[in-house]
Amino acid sequence: MTDFFTQLTEILEKEAARRPGTCVSEETLRALQASRPAPAPAAPARGEDAMPSARPVPPRPAPSAVVPRTSSPVPAPPPQDPVPRPMPDMEAVCAEVARCRRCPLHATRLNPVPGEGDPHARLMFIGEGPGGDEDRQGRPFVGPAGQLLDKMIAAMQFRREEVYIANIVKCRPPRNRAPMPEEAEMCLPFLQEQIRLVRPEVIVLLGATAVHYLLKRQEGIMRIRGRWLEYGGIPVMPTYHPAFLLRQEQAKRDAWEDLKQVMRRFGKEPPAPRRAPR
Ligand code: SF4
Repeated sequence: MTDFFTQLTEILEKEAARRPGTCVSEETLRALQASRPAPAPAAPARGEDAMPSARPVPPRPAPSAVVPRTSSPVPAPPPQDPVPRPMPDMEAVCAEVARCRRCPLHATRLNPVPGEGDPHARLMFIGEGPGGDEDRQGRPFVGPAGQLLDKMIAAMQFRREEVYIANIVKCRPPRNRAPMPEEAEMCLPFLQEQIRLVRPEVIVLLGATAVHYLLKRQEGIMRIRGRWLEYGGIPVMPTYHPAFLLRQEQAKRDAWEDLKQVMRRFGKEPPAPRRAPR
C-alpha cells in the first residue's frame, strides 16, 4: 500500500498545481488525517500480550510544510471582477466557475460543480450545494441524494439528460454545512446566468436553502412547498431536498404530490395510484 506520506505528497502537489500561492487548508488536512491508514500493529515481543492495544493511536503531527488554518489562515480570496454578464453559453459559465475564487469555498473544493444537463431543458432542478461525492466527481447530485433525485425525475417521466441540474453554490461548503449568505450571494450570478441560458418552462427548487437564496423567501420548506411561485416569469415549485427525504421517509408522499403538479404543467398525467419514489 502507498504509505501515508506518499499519498500526502501527491495530494499536496496536486493542490499546489491547482492553486498556486495558496496554502493547504485545514479541511484538506483533516481529510488527509482521516484517510491515513491505521498503522500496522507491531509484532508483540516475546511474552507480550498478542492482543492489539486498545489505546487510541495519537495522530501523527502534520508535516511542517503543511500549515493549518489556525496558525496561518487561508488567505482571503484575491479580488476578482464581478461575474461577467451576460455570458454567451453554458460552456462560458462552466469555465468561469472553474477559475472562480470569489468566495472562500474555492479554497477547500476538490472540484467545482457548475451543473449539468440539457442546456435547453424544459425542466430545471436547483439544490443547495455540492456534497462530498459531488465534490470528488465535479458533478451535481451523484451521491445517495442524487440517486433519489434520479428516481424522482424518472417517476416524472423525464430522463436525467433531459433536465438541467444546478445548485445555489458551485463549490462544496466544508462539512456539508449550508452556504453562508455571502457565499450564496457571490455565487448567485452563475445560477442566474444558467437560468437565463436554459430558460426552463418550470424550475423545481429542492429545499429551503434554494428557496431562500433564489427567491429571497424566508418561509420554511414545510410551509412553502407545493405552492407555485415565480422567478423571472418562470413557474417555480418548491419541494423537499432529496437528502431530507432520505432521512424523513414520510415526507416522500408530499414531495410526490409536488412533483405531480409539475408533471401536469407538462401535460403528463401521473399514473394513479402511484407510490412515491423510494
Ligand atoms: S462557490 Fe461560487 S463564488 Fe464561491 S468560489 Fe465557488 S464558484 Fe466562486
